[in-house]
Amino acid sequence: MMYTNGKTTNNNSPIRQPEPPANGGSGVVPGGPRGGQRLRLNPNVEHKPDNYEDLQLEFSPLLFSALERYLPPSLLGVKRDTKLNYMTDILLRYSSGSERLRLHKHREYRQKIISNYKPLHCDLYNMNGSSFFVPSFLKAITENTEESFRSIMTEPSPEIFTFEILQPRICAKLVEEVENFEKWVHETRFRIMRPNTMNKYGAVLDDFGLESMLDKLMDDFIRPISKIFFSEVGGATLDSHHGFVVEYGTDRDIDLGFHVDDSEVTLNICLGKQFTGGELFFRGVRCEKHVNTETQSEEPMDYVHIPGRAVLHRGRHRHGARATTGGHRINLLLWCRSSVFRELRKYQKDFSSWCAECHHEKKERQLKAIMTTKLELLRREGDAS
Ligand SMILES: [Zn+2]
Repeated sequence: MMYTNGKTTNNNSPIRQPEPPANGGSGVVPGGPRGGQRLRLNPNVEHKPDNYEDLQLEFSPLLFSALERYLPPSLLGVKRDTKLNYMTDILLRYSSGSERLRLHKHREYRQKIISNYKPLHCDLYNMNGSSFFVPSFLKAITENTEESFRSIMTEPSPEIFTFEILQPRICAKLVEEVENFEKWVHETRFRIMRPNTMNKYGAVLDDFGLESMLDKLMDDFIRPISKIFFSEVGGATLDSHHGFVVEYGTDRDIDLGFHVDDSEVTLNICLGKQFTGGELFFRGVRCEKHVNTETQSEEPMDYVHIPGRAVLHRGRHRHGARATTGGHRINLLLWCRSSVFRELRKYQKDFSSWCAECHHEKKERQLKAIMTTKLELLRREGDAS
Protein backbone atom coordinates (compact mmCIF):
# COMPACT_ATOMS: atom_id res chain seq x y z
CA MET A 1 0.00 0.00 0.00
CA MET A 2 1.27 3.49 -0.81
CA TYR A 3 1.07 6.32 1.69
CA THR A 4 2.92 8.95 -0.30
CA ASN A 5 -0.20 11.07 -0.39
CA GLY A 6 -1.02 10.12 3.13
CA LYS A 7 -4.21 8.13 2.72
CA THR A 8 -5.07 4.53 2.37
CA THR A 9 -7.99 5.38 0.15
CA ASN A 10 -7.38 5.98 -3.51
CA ASN A 11 -8.23 9.65 -3.79
CA ASN A 12 -5.37 12.12 -3.84
CA SER A 13 -6.16 14.36 -0.90
CA PRO A 14 -3.48 14.63 1.80
CA ILE A 15 -3.76 13.06 5.24
CA ARG A 16 -6.43 14.73 7.32
CA GLN A 17 -6.41 16.28 10.69
CA PRO A 18 -10.00 16.34 11.88
CA GLU A 19 -10.84 19.65 13.49
CA PRO A 20 -13.22 19.88 16.39
CA PRO A 21 -15.99 22.36 15.59
CA ALA A 22 -14.96 24.56 18.50
CA ASN A 23 -13.11 24.08 21.70
CA GLY A 24 -12.47 25.89 24.94
CA GLY A 25 -8.73 25.33 25.10
CA SER A 26 -6.51 27.69 23.16
CA GLY A 27 -2.81 28.14 22.68
CA VAL A 28 -1.02 30.26 25.24
CA VAL A 29 1.38 32.44 25.49
CA PRO A 30 4.96 33.59 25.97
CA GLY A 31 5.67 37.14 27.05
CA GLY A 32 3.31 39.34 29.02
CA PRO A 33 1.12 42.32 28.32
CA ARG A 34 2.66 45.30 26.59
CA GLY A 35 5.59 46.54 28.60
CA GLY A 36 4.77 44.12 31.41
CA GLN A 37 6.79 41.38 32.97
CA ARG A 38 7.17 38.09 31.18
CA LEU A 39 5.22 34.95 31.95
CA ARG A 40 7.19 32.07 33.38
CA LEU A 41 8.30 29.40 30.91
CA ASN A 42 7.34 26.60 33.29
CA PRO A 43 4.30 26.57 35.56
CA ASN A 44 4.61 27.09 39.28
CA VAL A 45 3.15 23.73 40.28
CA GLU A 46 3.00 24.61 43.96
CA HIS A 47 0.80 27.63 43.37
CA LYS A 48 -2.90 27.05 43.93
CA PRO A 49 -4.76 29.16 41.34
CA ASP A 50 -7.94 31.05 42.04
CA ASN A 51 -11.25 29.73 40.78
CA TYR A 52 -12.88 31.82 38.04
CA GLU A 53 -15.97 29.74 37.45
CA ASP A 54 -18.37 32.16 39.12
CA LEU A 55 -17.58 34.91 36.59
CA GLN A 56 -19.05 35.56 33.16
CA LEU A 57 -15.82 35.67 31.17
CA GLU A 58 -14.83 35.91 27.57
CA PHE A 59 -12.56 32.89 27.94
CA SER A 60 -12.97 29.60 29.77
CA PRO A 61 -12.55 29.96 33.57
CA LEU A 62 -10.31 26.89 33.43
CA LEU A 63 -7.99 28.72 31.07
CA PHE A 64 -7.51 31.48 33.64
CA SER A 65 -6.80 28.98 36.41
CA ALA A 66 -4.27 27.19 34.20
CA LEU A 67 -2.60 30.38 33.00
CA GLU A 68 -2.28 31.68 36.56
CA ARG A 69 0.52 29.23 37.27
CA TYR A 70 2.57 30.97 34.57
CA LEU A 71 2.25 34.45 36.06
CA PRO A 72 5.40 36.26 37.20
CA PRO A 73 6.04 35.55 40.92
CA SER A 74 5.17 39.12 41.94
CA LEU A 75 1.63 38.69 40.61
CA LEU A 76 0.76 35.42 42.31
CA GLY A 77 -0.30 37.00 45.58
CA VAL A 78 -2.34 39.93 44.23
CA LYS A 79 -6.14 40.25 44.12
CA ARG A 80 -8.07 38.02 41.73
CA ASP A 81 -9.32 41.03 39.75
CA THR A 82 -5.78 42.23 39.11
CA LYS A 83 -4.69 38.82 37.87
CA LEU A 84 -7.84 38.59 35.77
CA ASN A 85 -7.12 41.91 34.05
CA TYR A 86 -3.51 40.99 33.43
CA MET A 87 -4.41 37.62 31.93
CA THR A 88 -7.33 38.97 29.89
CA ASP A 89 -4.96 41.51 28.37
CA ILE A 90 -2.66 38.67 27.29
CA LEU A 91 -5.44 36.47 25.97
CA LEU A 92 -7.05 39.27 23.97
CA ARG A 93 -3.78 39.88 22.15
CA TYR A 94 -3.52 36.22 21.24
CA SER A 95 -7.00 35.60 19.92
CA SER A 96 -8.61 37.30 16.97
CA GLY A 97 -12.06 38.88 17.01
CA SER A 98 -13.55 36.08 14.93
CA GLU A 99 -12.05 33.45 17.20
CA ARG A 100 -13.59 35.20 20.22
CA LEU A 101 -16.97 35.38 18.53
CA ARG A 102 -16.75 31.67 17.75
CA LEU A 103 -15.93 30.88 21.39
CA HIS A 104 -18.73 33.11 22.60
CA LYS A 105 -21.26 31.38 20.33
CA HIS A 106 -19.98 28.00 21.39
CA ARG A 107 -20.42 28.88 25.06
CA GLU A 108 -24.01 29.93 24.38
CA TYR A 109 -24.61 26.69 22.48
CA ARG A 110 -23.25 24.63 25.36
CA GLN A 111 -25.24 26.59 27.93
CA LYS A 112 -28.43 26.01 25.97
CA ILE A 113 -27.89 22.25 26.00
CA ILE A 114 -26.86 22.03 29.64
CA SER A 115 -29.83 24.02 30.88
CA ASN A 116 -32.31 21.86 28.92
CA TYR A 117 -30.91 18.35 28.86
CA LYS A 118 -31.73 16.11 31.84
CA PRO A 119 -28.92 13.64 32.60
CA LEU A 120 -29.84 9.99 33.00
CA HIS A 121 -26.95 8.92 35.28
CA CYS A 122 -25.96 11.82 37.50
CA ASP A 123 -23.09 9.83 39.05
CA LEU A 124 -21.21 10.00 35.73
CA TYR A 125 -20.90 13.76 36.01
CA ASN A 126 -18.88 13.66 39.24
CA MET A 127 -16.12 11.17 38.90
CA ASN A 128 -15.62 8.77 41.76
CA GLY A 129 -12.37 6.92 41.03
CA SER A 130 -13.19 3.71 42.86
CA SER A 131 -16.51 3.19 41.10
CA PHE A 132 -15.22 4.32 37.67
CA PHE A 133 -11.96 2.43 37.27
CA VAL A 134 -10.83 -1.17 37.57
CA PRO A 135 -8.70 -1.81 40.71
CA SER A 136 -5.49 -2.53 38.75
CA PHE A 137 -5.66 0.88 37.07
CA LEU A 138 -6.37 2.69 40.34
CA LYS A 139 -3.47 0.93 42.05
CA ALA A 140 -1.04 1.89 39.27
CA ILE A 141 -2.15 5.53 39.44
CA THR A 142 -1.75 5.61 43.21
CA GLU A 143 1.76 4.17 43.01
CA ASN A 144 2.53 6.62 40.20
CA THR A 145 5.78 5.06 38.94
CA GLU A 146 6.87 3.93 35.49
CA GLU A 147 7.08 0.41 36.87
CA SER A 148 3.51 0.44 38.19
CA PHE A 149 2.16 1.80 34.89
CA ARG A 150 4.11 -0.78 32.89
CA SER A 151 2.73 -3.55 35.11
CA ILE A 152 -0.83 -2.93 33.83
CA MET A 153 0.05 -2.03 30.22
CA THR A 154 0.98 -3.79 27.07
CA GLU A 155 2.97 -1.91 24.43
CA PRO A 156 2.20 -3.79 21.19
CA SER A 157 4.22 -1.27 19.19
CA PRO A 158 6.59 1.44 20.49
CA GLU A 159 4.67 4.23 22.23
CA ILE A 160 1.23 2.69 21.81
CA PHE A 161 -0.02 1.56 25.20
CA THR A 162 -3.13 -0.46 25.99
CA PHE A 163 -4.60 -1.19 29.40
CA GLU A 164 -7.85 -2.06 31.15
CA ILE A 165 -9.39 1.11 32.57
CA LEU A 166 -13.19 1.35 33.05
CA GLN A 167 -15.49 -0.92 34.97
CA PRO A 168 -18.11 -2.61 32.75
CA ARG A 169 -20.91 -0.91 34.69
CA ILE A 170 -19.48 2.53 33.90
CA CYS A 171 -19.04 1.65 30.22
CA ALA A 172 -22.71 0.62 30.10
CA LYS A 173 -23.83 3.79 31.86
CA LEU A 174 -21.82 5.99 29.52
CA VAL A 175 -23.39 4.27 26.51
CA GLU A 176 -26.86 4.74 28.03
CA GLU A 177 -26.13 8.39 28.78
CA VAL A 178 -25.05 9.02 25.18
CA GLU A 179 -28.16 7.22 23.90
CA ASN A 180 -30.31 9.26 26.24
CA PHE A 181 -28.68 12.46 25.00
CA GLU A 182 -29.25 11.46 21.39
CA LYS A 183 -32.87 10.65 22.13
CA TRP A 184 -33.23 14.16 23.56
CA VAL A 185 -31.53 15.64 20.49
CA HIS A 186 -33.91 13.71 18.26
CA GLU A 187 -37.05 14.63 20.21
CA THR A 188 -36.24 18.32 20.54
CA ARG A 189 -34.73 18.51 17.04
CA PHE A 190 -31.78 20.31 18.57
CA ARG A 191 -29.04 20.73 15.97
CA ILE A 192 -25.87 19.45 17.62
CA MET A 193 -22.30 19.78 16.43
CA ARG A 194 -20.59 16.49 15.74
CA PRO A 195 -17.23 15.70 17.37
CA ASN A 196 -15.08 16.61 14.37
CA THR A 197 -15.09 17.03 10.61
CA MET A 198 -14.61 13.30 9.98
CA ASN A 199 -17.48 11.82 12.01
CA LYS A 200 -21.16 12.25 11.09
CA TYR A 201 -22.32 10.41 14.23
CA GLY A 202 -21.23 10.71 17.81
CA ALA A 203 -21.42 13.51 20.36
CA VAL A 204 -19.18 15.94 22.20
CA LEU A 205 -19.30 14.94 25.85
CA ASP A 206 -18.02 18.36 26.95
CA ASP A 207 -21.09 19.96 25.34
CA PHE A 208 -23.66 18.24 27.55
CA GLY A 209 -22.07 18.53 30.98
CA LEU A 210 -19.23 16.04 31.16
CA GLU A 211 -16.44 18.60 30.81
CA SER A 212 -15.34 18.70 34.43
CA MET A 213 -15.46 14.90 34.78
CA LEU A 214 -13.19 14.62 31.72
CA ASP A 215 -10.92 17.34 33.08
CA LYS A 216 -10.44 15.25 36.19
CA LEU A 217 -9.79 12.18 34.04
CA MET A 218 -7.05 14.09 32.23
CA ASP A 219 -5.56 15.86 35.27
CA ASP A 220 -5.49 13.02 37.78
CA PHE A 221 -5.17 9.94 35.62
CA ILE A 222 -3.89 10.57 32.09
CA ARG A 223 -1.36 13.34 32.74
CA PRO A 224 0.64 11.28 35.29
CA ILE A 225 0.99 8.49 32.70
CA SER A 226 1.72 10.90 29.84
CA LYS A 227 4.34 12.70 31.92
CA ILE A 228 6.36 9.49 31.91
CA PHE A 229 5.69 8.11 28.44
CA PHE A 230 5.08 11.22 26.32
CA SER A 231 7.20 13.90 27.97
CA GLU A 232 8.71 15.14 24.68
CA VAL A 233 5.25 16.11 23.33
CA GLY A 234 4.06 18.00 26.42
CA GLY A 235 2.76 14.95 28.33
CA ALA A 236 3.54 16.64 31.65
CA THR A 237 1.74 19.87 30.78
CA LEU A 238 -1.54 18.65 29.26
CA ASP A 239 -3.98 21.44 30.12
CA SER A 240 -7.03 21.24 27.86
CA HIS A 241 -9.06 18.51 26.21
CA HIS A 242 -11.72 17.69 23.61
CA GLY A 243 -13.85 14.78 24.80
CA PHE A 244 -16.34 12.96 22.62
CA VAL A 245 -17.80 9.62 21.63
CA VAL A 246 -17.81 8.13 18.14
CA GLU A 247 -20.30 5.55 16.96
CA TYR A 248 -19.67 2.95 14.31
CA GLY A 249 -21.83 0.35 12.65
CA THR A 250 -23.51 -0.31 9.34
CA ASP A 251 -26.18 2.29 10.24
CA ARG A 252 -23.61 4.77 11.66
CA ASP A 253 -20.15 5.89 10.57
CA ILE A 254 -18.59 2.78 9.07
CA ASP A 255 -14.89 3.48 9.14
CA LEU A 256 -12.47 6.36 9.64
CA GLY A 257 -9.78 7.38 7.14
CA PHE A 258 -6.09 7.65 7.85
CA HIS A 259 -5.45 10.77 9.93
CA VAL A 260 -3.69 12.42 12.88
CA ASP A 261 -5.52 13.86 15.90
CA ASP A 262 -5.57 17.47 17.00
CA SER A 263 -3.99 16.42 20.29
CA GLU A 264 -0.67 15.78 21.94
CA VAL A 265 -1.90 12.59 23.60
CA THR A 266 -5.05 10.64 22.70
CA LEU A 267 -6.93 8.33 25.04
CA ASN A 268 -9.29 5.98 23.19
CA ILE A 269 -11.57 3.79 25.32
CA CYS A 270 -13.92 1.22 23.84
CA LEU A 271 -17.27 1.38 25.67
CA GLY A 272 -18.98 -1.46 23.77
CA LYS A 273 -21.32 -2.75 22.70
CA GLN A 274 -21.16 -5.89 20.56
CA PHE A 275 -19.39 -5.55 17.23
CA THR A 276 -17.20 -7.15 14.62
CA GLY A 277 -14.38 -5.39 12.79
CA GLY A 278 -13.47 -1.81 13.62
CA GLU A 279 -9.76 -2.44 14.24
CA LEU A 280 -7.50 0.55 14.78
CA PHE A 281 -4.49 0.68 12.49
CA PHE A 282 -1.34 2.72 13.18
CA ARG A 283 1.31 3.87 10.73
CA GLY A 284 4.10 5.71 12.55
CA VAL A 285 4.51 9.09 14.28
CA ARG A 286 5.13 12.16 12.12
CA CYS A 287 5.48 15.91 12.61
CA GLU A 288 3.41 18.29 10.51
CA LYS A 289 6.05 18.56 7.79
CA HIS A 290 6.43 14.78 7.43
CA VAL A 291 2.82 13.72 7.87
CA ASN A 292 2.59 12.37 4.32
CA THR A 293 5.88 10.48 4.18
CA GLU A 294 5.94 6.73 3.59
CA THR A 295 5.40 4.17 6.32
CA GLN A 296 8.47 2.15 7.30
CA SER A 297 8.23 -1.64 7.40
CA GLU A 298 8.32 -1.83 11.22
CA GLU A 299 5.61 0.80 11.77
CA PRO A 300 2.24 -0.81 10.91
CA MET A 301 0.28 -2.05 13.90
CA ASP A 302 -3.31 -3.23 14.16
CA TYR A 303 -5.31 -3.22 17.36
CA VAL A 304 -8.58 -4.99 18.10
CA HIS A 305 -10.83 -3.07 20.51
CA ILE A 306 -11.98 -4.69 23.75
CA PRO A 307 -14.75 -2.97 25.76
CA GLY A 308 -13.39 -1.36 28.93
CA ARG A 309 -9.87 -1.23 27.54
CA ALA A 310 -7.98 1.93 26.54
CA VAL A 311 -5.38 2.73 23.93
CA LEU A 312 -3.08 5.66 24.71
CA HIS A 313 -0.99 7.11 21.89
CA ARG A 314 0.50 10.32 20.56
CA GLY A 315 -1.93 12.48 18.61
CA ARG A 316 0.66 12.63 15.82
CA HIS A 317 0.67 8.84 15.52
CA ARG A 318 -0.98 8.34 12.12
CA HIS A 319 -3.96 6.03 12.38
CA GLY A 320 -7.43 5.10 11.20
CA ALA A 321 -10.28 2.70 11.95
CA ARG A 322 -11.27 -0.19 9.73
CA ALA A 323 -14.90 -0.85 8.91
CA THR A 324 -17.13 -2.01 11.73
CA THR A 325 -18.80 -4.81 9.80
CA GLY A 326 -21.45 -5.86 12.30
CA GLY A 327 -23.13 -4.64 15.46
CA HIS A 328 -22.53 -1.29 17.04
CA ARG A 329 -19.26 0.11 18.42
CA ILE A 330 -18.99 3.17 20.69
CA ASN A 331 -15.64 4.63 21.71
CA LEU A 332 -14.81 7.48 24.05
CA LEU A 333 -12.04 9.75 22.80
CA LEU A 334 -10.14 12.24 24.91
CA TRP A 335 -7.83 14.47 22.91
CA CYS A 336 -5.42 15.92 25.48
CA ARG A 337 -3.52 19.08 24.58
CA SER A 338 -0.65 21.09 26.00
CA SER A 339 -0.72 24.81 25.28
CA VAL A 340 2.91 25.08 26.41
CA PHE A 341 4.04 22.40 23.97
CA ARG A 342 2.08 24.06 21.16
CA GLU A 343 3.69 27.41 21.88
CA LEU A 344 7.20 25.99 21.99
CA ARG A 345 6.62 23.92 18.84
CA LYS A 346 6.27 27.11 16.81
CA TYR A 347 9.96 27.84 17.31
CA GLN A 348 11.25 24.37 16.51
CA LYS A 349 12.11 22.70 13.22
CA ASP A 350 13.61 19.42 14.35
CA PHE A 351 11.30 16.92 16.04
CA SER A 352 13.71 13.98 15.98
CA SER A 353 12.83 13.05 19.54
CA TRP A 354 9.42 11.79 18.34
CA CYS A 355 8.96 12.14 14.55
CA ALA A 356 10.39 9.05 12.85
CA GLU A 357 11.16 10.99 9.68
CA CYS A 358 12.94 13.88 11.49
CA HIS A 359 14.89 11.22 13.35
CA HIS A 360 15.83 9.53 10.07
CA GLU A 361 16.90 12.85 8.49
CA LYS A 362 19.03 13.71 11.50
CA LYS A 363 20.82 10.36 11.31
CA GLU A 364 21.44 10.92 7.58
CA ARG A 365 22.91 14.37 8.28
CA GLN A 366 25.20 12.95 10.95
CA LEU A 367 26.33 10.17 8.62
CA LYS A 368 27.01 12.67 5.88
CA ALA A 369 29.02 14.86 8.25
CA ILE A 370 31.13 11.88 9.30
CA MET A 371 31.75 10.91 5.67
CA THR A 372 32.77 14.49 4.81
CA THR A 373 35.19 14.58 7.74
CA LYS A 374 36.68 11.22 6.75
CA LEU A 375 37.15 12.35 3.16
CA GLU A 376 38.73 15.59 4.34
CA LEU A 377 41.18 13.67 6.57
CA LEU A 378 42.06 11.32 3.72
CA ARG A 379 42.63 14.30 1.41
CA ARG A 380 44.93 15.94 3.97
CA GLU A 381 46.85 12.73 4.45
CA GLY A 382 47.19 12.53 0.68
CA ASP A 383 48.47 16.13 0.61
CA ALA A 384 50.98 15.43 3.40
CA SER A 385 52.53 12.38 1.79
ZN1 LIG B 1 9.43 15.36 11.18
